[in-house]
Amino acid sequence: MTSRAPKPPLAREALRQVTQQRGGCIRPVQLRRTDLDTGEVTQVLIPCGATFEAVCPACAKRAQNLRAEQCRDGWHLEEDPPDHSLAPDEDQEFWLALRARAQVLRDQADAGGADTASLDEAIAELDDELGRTGIRGTLARTTGTGPQDNKSKTRRSRSTRRRQDAPDLPKRPMSSRTTGKIYAAPDGMRYRPSMFFTLTCDSYGPVLDDGTPANPAGYDYRRAARDAIHFPALFDRLIQNLRRYLGYEVQYFAAIEPQRRLAPHVHVAFRGAISRADLRQVIAATYHQVWWPTTDTVRFDCDQLPEWHEATGRYVDPATGELLPEWDAALDAIGPNDLPLHVARFGPKFDAQGVLAGSRDAKRCIGYLTKYLTKQLGRCHPAATDAQADHVDRLLDALRYEPCSPTCANWIRYGITPKNPRAGLVPGLCRGKAHRAEHLGYAGRRVLTSRRWSGKTLADHRADRKAWLTALLDLPATDIARYRWERVSPADPDAMSPTRRLLHVLDDRTRWQHALTQARQRAKAKGELSAPEEAA
Ligand SMILES: [Zn+2]
Ligand SMILES: [Zn+2]
Repeated sequence: MTSRAPKPPLAREALRQVTQQRGGCIRPVQLRRTDLDTGEVTQVLIPCGATFEAVCPACAKRAQNLRAEQCRDGWHLEEDPPDHSLAPDEDQEFWLALRARAQVLRDQADAGGADTASLDEAIAELDDELGRTGIRGTLARTTGTGPQDNKSKTRRSRSTRRRQDAPDLPKRPMSSRTTGKIYAAPDGMRYRPSMFFTLTCDSYGPVLDDGTPANPAGYDYRRAARDAIHFPALFDRLIQNLRRYLGYEVQYFAAIEPQRRLAPHVHVAFRGAISRADLRQVIAATYHQVWWPTTDTVRFDCDQLPEWHEATGRYVDPATGELLPEWDAALDAIGPNDLPLHVARFGPKFDAQGVLAGSRDAKRCIGYLTKYLTKQLGRCHPAATDAQADHVDRLLDALRYEPCSPTCANWIRYGITPKNPRAGLVPGLCRGKAHRAEHLGYAGRRVLTSRRWSGKTLADHRADRKAWLTALLDLPATDIARYRWERVSPADPDAMSPTRRLLHVLDDRTRWQHALTQARQRAKAKGELSAPEEAA
């Protein structure tokens, strides 16, 4: 038996660990701040802002706390928050910024005579994402604005819209109210409870306590894969149906995470109380039909894959010279008697409880809602046994050839040229997030909040917290107009090495924590501490 004394820690690793323990960012970004009045230059390190623990634990923790605060802020509002319905929401803002970036890159590439195919593809996908956020109208496409394209667009919307059947639910007149009902107790006290609600996918076969199927051969991995891919659309339907059925603008803060069996489920904080009977009825009536071409027949497996045909912008079968139909043509070929590729539904089981503002229950539920946000879906339940690892592998196998979107390379396998095609697409090697182990089929955002949740954006919440800390610590507020900020790149003469950056962060954290502790003690002595719990 050999036993070795543990090696003393390496200086750099030790530095990283201590910085991390004290809540410091381990991948700080260096900015050069120039005072425009005096010309004085200061180097400023700002946190990387990662949301996943695997990237930067301290930043992920801060992001999680901010989400908890956002959840708490909107859950039990008694007055309707200001209606920003004309302003884009957080989701739309996110996709619009990416869309703008892609446009600039595309135009630059075009001006330089470079190939813009992959950027055009990205732009088309971003437009689709924007459409999915419910934004109305479209931004001008750089490509395909000709009459041909317009024609295919109208054709497409006709063939899909016709087929989404209306849910079998009574409809109430709509009010713009966003808050819940008030209940009076016999003693005269008035309550305005809100809901904590958990909803799961249907069963794909019996599972054991460790989340693995009792009978792997009988477990429906294909349906599990498809439900995960289409989960965001299904959740949207649920909200639409609930609002239509209840007759007011139900507000929600929802977090998506995997269950132990690796199917996504959603925890939702609803503002206002909703009865179990109403929820049951709406869930039963909610489904999402996926009107995509059939994938029943594999036309091309690993050998002899279709090749890119530049002249037509389609894929071609090298053996027969047959051109694979374009996406729109494949959609149009879906006949009136065909079935949808998939119908996504929630399982019949759900969990719902009323929660009062400021209660211990509220705190506990917010803990559930934000618990897994710092981990990627595929890392929430790491496989500890062979059976669990096999379960993950089988799910990933099912996801490998499942089309994740109209642009998915997998359509070639089923004899269809994907939407917005380009050279080099290979079935089984689609780069869409849904196919990857970190995502397990669900490629959407992890937190979904309705437009009128708290009446604030995440940036507002961030600013609130900063203002509170600034006041607590008697720091001067920064005058934004006075400074110019530039990002320092590694090649710049004033760039700091990663180790030097970390030393600065650690020192900063140490002093900051000390100051915060003192400020808290002062505030406590004066009895005036009432603010976000976990400070920056
Ligand atoms: Zn960081
Ligand atoms: Zn794909």
